[in-house]
Amino acid sequence: MPETSCCPDCESAQIYNTSAHTMHDRVSEYNWKCRECGHKFDAPQSREAKNPLGQDDPTAPPNGTVAAKLDEMDPDDLGGAA
Ligand SMILES: [Zn+2]
Repeated sequence: MPETSCCPDCESAQIYNTSAHTMHDRVSEYNWKCRECGHKFDAPQSREAKNPLGQDDPTAPPNGTVAAKLDEMDPDDLGGAA
């Protein structure tokens, strides 16, 4: 079952790591922030992806990409062309 990291407050997958701000010795108290509600947290919550295609994860490739590539590589196509 695919899992996705999400905001512990609103469960949005639109979260990002802000660890780029750890310029000093001490690490910033909160490293994660939610784009949806602006909630800051030190660790994202993990949940099952609500969408089986993983489309609620902005980093996931759209479903069907692999199939499309395989279709391009069809040997019949390569042999018949030109
Ligand atoms: Zn949120």
